[in-house]
Amino acid sequence: MSVKVCKFGGSSLADAAGLRRAAEILAADESRRFVVPSAPGKRFDGDRKVTDLLITCHELARQGLGFDEPWGLVAERFAAIVAELGVSVDLEGWLAEARAGIEATAAVGPDFAASRGEALNGRVLGALLGWACVDPAEVIWFNERGRLDEERTYRALGGRLKELGRAVVPGFFGSRADGDGSPASIKTFSRGGSDVTGAIVARAVMAAVYENWTDVPGLLITDPRVVPGAFPIEVVTYRELRELSYSGARVLHEEAVFPVRSAGIPVRILSTREPGEPGTWIVAAADPKAETEYEITGIAGRSGFTGFMIEKAMMNAEVGFGMRALAVLDRHEISFEHVPSGVDTMTLVIDDAYFEGADAVITREALAEEIKSATHADEVDVDPAISLIATVGRGMKRKPGMAAKLFAALHEADVNIRMIDQGSSELNITIGVDDADYASAVRAIYRKFVGD
Ligand code: ASP
Repeated sequence: MSVKVCKFGGSSLADAAGLRRAAEILAADESRRFVVPSAPGKRFDGDRKVTDLLITCHELARQGLGFDEPWGLVAERFAAIVAELGVSVDLEGWLAEARAGIEATAAVGPDFAASRGEALNGRVLGALLGWACVDPAEVIWFNERGRLDEERTYRALGGRLKELGRAVVPGFFGSRADGDGSPASIKTFSRGGSDVTGAIVARAVMAAVYENWTDVPGLLITDPRVVPGAFPIEVVTYRELRELSYSGARVLHEEAVFPVRSAGIPVRILSTREPGEPGTWIVAAADPKAETEYEITGIAGRSGFTGFMIEKAMMNAEVGFGMRALAVLDRHEISFEHVPSGVDTMTLVIDDAYFEGADAVITREALAEEIKSATHADEVDVDPAISLIATVGRGMKRKPGMAAKLFAALHEADVNIRMIDQGSSELNITIGVDDADYASAVRAIYRKFVGD
């Protein structure tokens, strides 16, 4: 029988009604045999996610302070879920154990604390379904470099799930390479990582489909805040999904694609609010579902980039120029988004997160100075406030006139293009525009390719 793995996001499991709805969805299809829950998310605007509360607990414990306030909210959330579902579980015992672990790992890091939302929700969901809840700490393993240990994980997880036939596997965490089952051995994926667990479970059992249940109707063709009425994409390929990663609203954790992609397992984004709707399929290019009559699949964009325009006479004849410029980025652990170039110019387009906010590593001016001295460039101009817009479509490949259509749309909307880059896969054309032109550019492209 073909097996489906279902991951439910935090906003779909935010309260007892959400858990019940998930149980109904699982019951509606015999082949839905493995389920990966997130921690309870927000129930309403202004509500707090259980994971955020737990990270606050850790932060207070780390500073040697009491954490009764956020912990009380976590305990209340689970008490209400358990009471409303009427399941008989040892919640008091589980909470006491979690609290003791948070205290024990105060000096170690936030991972154990952060993981408890999934750990507890998984056990409650298991009790509701009457299915076993597998402890990810026993079957999902990281290696010494902090990456997934695929071989060890697939062997342990695949074996356990085969034995059980049906099971709940809490999302978001596993064990460090030398893990011994203690709270300090727990390691989480990055935020939103239950998607990754879902993909790993799907890969471990070689599922026919990885169903990712959310509270949105699928991956939207573009940002609905910019184009009201933007509708879900029916089918997107894994590669297109990567090119669409500028979308503000990400439906799937970036790393979740890899375990399923290599095994050719399709992903389906579905909404618990409208379980009957088709959602979005994410498939390999070779999948028959990927055949398309549409020119474009989606338009994704984001503001907040800076261009560093490097100019040097005879740059094209200078061996190693690019390497010297990029070595500066390497030194500061900065990655670039795009590098459009001309005969005597090369522009590095870089995410503003490296220059502003909590994770800033250097100022724009200092970086420009370093690039100038490393490359002996004539000029390095800093060009902030760039928005990138990727127009993506497997239907564009080898089709003449696509760029003309795109640029005509921007011309008609009176948008000046500051940068152009066509991905070598011919799947996307990315342009850079002024932040002030971002919304009108997206709307113009949408009107041209999709219609009003
Ligand atoms: N609960 C975790 C988070 O809030 C992981 C997840 O929901 O996927 O990031």
